[in-house]
This record gives sequence, structure tokens and C-alpha cells, in this order.
Amino acid sequence: MRVFKFGGASVKDASAIQNVTSIIQSYVEEKNPILMVVSAIGKTTNKLEIIAKKVFEQSEDAKTLLKELIEEHRVICRELKMSEESIVYKELADIETKTLGFIVANESNNFNYIYDQIVSKGELLSTTVVYHYILSQKVSIDFVNARYLIKTDNNYTDANILWHETQEAVDAELKNHSSQVLITQGFIGANSEMLYTTLGREGSDYTAAILAKCTNTKEMTIWKDVDGVYTADPKKFAEATIINKLSYKEAIEMTFYGAQIIHPKTIKPIQNSNCILKVKSFIHKEAKGTEIGNFENIHYQPVIVLKENQVLYSFSVRDFSFLNESNLGKIIATFGKYSLRINLMQNSSIEFLVLTDEKLGKNELIVEDLKEDFEIKMENHLKLLTIRHYTEDILEKQRKNKAVLITQKGEDTVHYLMR
Ligand code: ASP
Ligand code: MG
Repeated sequence: MRVFKFGGASVKDASAIQNVTSIIQSYVEEKNPILMVVSAIGKTTNKLEIIAKKVFEQSEDAKTLLKELIEEHRVICRELKMSEESIVYKELADIETKTLGFIVANESNNFNYIYDQIVSKGELLSTTVVYHYILSQKVSIDFVNARYLIKTDNNYTDANILWHETQEAVDAELKNHSSQVLITQGFIGANSEMLYTTLGREGSDYTAAILAKCTNTKEMTIWKDVDGVYTADPKKFAEATIINKLSYKEAIEMTFYGAQIIHPKTIKPIQNSNCILKVKSFIHKEAKGTEIGNFENIHYQPVIVLKENQVLYSFSVRDFSFLNESNLGKIIATFGKYSLRINLMQNSSIEFLVLTDEKLGKNELIVEDLKEDFEIKMENHLKLLTIRHYTEDILEKQRKNKAVLITQKGEDTVHYLMR
């Protein structure tokens, strides 16, 4: 089996879908089936997020916006010259009717639940279109709803995988298919009541990794609009070059500090099953791309990762007594309580600095919870620049003319917190 993940940009319009189809055609072979994991088309998920909010507010706009979004999918089908008789139009209409039905009948005021029931439709729409188009090109392909594969808990919008149940579901479902290609949705799953759940934004990479693990696949490819993983974001750093080979560990470090190559949760499952992850371009198909695997002794060029929208907190004890372990523990536990990840920490005798991401509505809660015990200062809009495998030249260059607030320098990695 091969697992291929196609993101929203790769299926963004009719010609993009034709391109994906040609990739599939060039890889189909008798003995090695392809499992395709596909995201929602283009910016669909952002539009659905707005619709979910309208549903929550019980605004009539929800229905209008939903109909417009489904019409956009019909337009793509027509551009793909899919005949008006094709069942694809009926299936799109079914999704529309069911979703409108949900909007009318919904009585829940649990936003996260509403979000998942609405936003999950993006992947259902995209895979419906892509499936019917590929089928019309005489490829042997079957469609599986990810609800029958990806089993999760009830943690709507950021659901956790139930590994045992997922493994059983994948084993059972795959027995029913003998086609050369199987298509399913990224990002979505179902809880024990078969209600839709989602895995967090950009979660389709993670879906592909889960399915690679559960099918014991040894090669998974993420098709992207860039030629592979770069040593830095090529839009921001002129010196960026492609990395040919990357170890799992290096990939985890890069994503942790903000490299937006793949969803951070993707690596663990494929590392556990020793599956090679390829990042390849769907535009320059001949380009080699990047391979992520269990590689050792790789000599890396300096890697630069920039994480923006950082918030720095400074905690000190009011009476100038020292910050002891129980104080520090209390602070860290509060970040845990709101699932705010700590990206950097530094302590002195009287001050403790913590850096985290800007998360709407959550950053102030830290201050609320801790202001009785500590003097707290907060600074927003900071940037964390991480340089791995650095040389003194690179550090010199990156630091120049910048307001650096904190420097942390290790053997291999340097962090600069900058304004
Ligand atoms: N469609 C979802 C999103 O845009 C999932 C994904 O693209 O991976 O976040
Ligand atoms: Mg997407």
C-alpha cells in the first residue's frame, strides 16, 4: 500500500483536480494499491468556520453561505465536464440537504460540536468531487467515509485518536475493497455515536499518518505546492535550500519550533511504524523532494525556523522573595490547564519568563488565574527565531539590526526572541 495525502491547494480547482488525477494514474499498479487522503478544496474550511459560527448564532446567513459553497463545488464539476447525469450532483445535493437539515434541527449550544458537524463537510465535498472525477477517468477507485476508519473521543475540534478502535475499523473496512485506489477524507473522524469529529486545523497530514500506521505502510507521500522541505521559509529567507533527507527527530524539532512543513502530530505514528515520509511537489513532479525517515549521521545545513505571534510573560513574586519550585510548578500547571504550549522558559532568582503562542481569548486567562500570587507583565507580537546547526556567521547575520530580548544558545540550537 502507498498512502498519498493531497492538501487543499492540490485540489483547489478543476485543473488542479486533473493534475492530481494524472499523478494517481502514473502511480497505479496492479499490486500496490494507493490510499488517497484528501483535504477540503482551497479555502473551504475557512468558509465553513464562518458558517459554523453563524449556525451557533442562529443566523439565517448560515444556510445561504452553505448553498453558495456547495454551488462552488458544482461549478468545479461542470468545469471538469462531468455530465449532468453524473451521480456526483446527486451526492452534492444530499450533503446539502443533510447539512441544511442539521442547521434547522440543531438545538445544541456546544460550539465545538456544531463546528465539527459543519466543518467536516469540506472534506466530504472535496472527496465526492475528486472521487467521481477519477472514476470517470476509468481508474479503479473506491470511496470510504473516514467516519468508518478514524475513531476518536468526543473532544470536538481537537479529537484524540482511539488507536485500538481505529486499527480494528481500518482492518475491517479495507477487507471490503479490492480497487486499486481508495479515497477518504483527511481531518475528520467519528466518535462512538458516529458523530463527526475533527482533528485540528491542517489535520489531514495526521490522518494520512494514522492510516499509514494502521495499514503498516512503508511509504507515505505528502504532495505540496513546494518542492520539499526547505532549510528556511523560502518566502522569507533568500538562502533557503531543499533538504534531501531529514531524520524524524529533526523533523519534529523543526515543526515544534514553527516550521509549517507538516502537521506536528504526523511524525509520531510514522516513526513508530518506521514508514518513510516523502514531501513532494504536485507541480514539479520530477523534483526529488524530501525524505523523512530513520536516518542517522546526516550533515545538515543550518536550518532557520521563525515562529511569529509569540507572547512573553514575566512572573515575579510581589515581596521580592525567591521564586521557588512550588511557585514555578503553579505557573506551569496554569499553562497546562489552558493547553498553551510553552515554547521557551528562563528563570532567575526573582523572575520567571515564559513564552507561548498567541491564542485568542486564552492568554488573558493566565493573568486572571495568577495575578493574586505574582506580579505579571505580558508582551505580545514577538517572534521566536530558532537556528539549528548554526554557524557563527549565520548567527551574526540573523541577529543584526534586530532587537533581541532573550538568547538561548545550546550545542546545536540557538533561540532568539525578538521584537
Ligand atoms: N481542511 C482542513 C484545514 O484546512 C484540514 C487540512 O487541510 O489538513 O484545516
Ligand atoms: Mg487545508
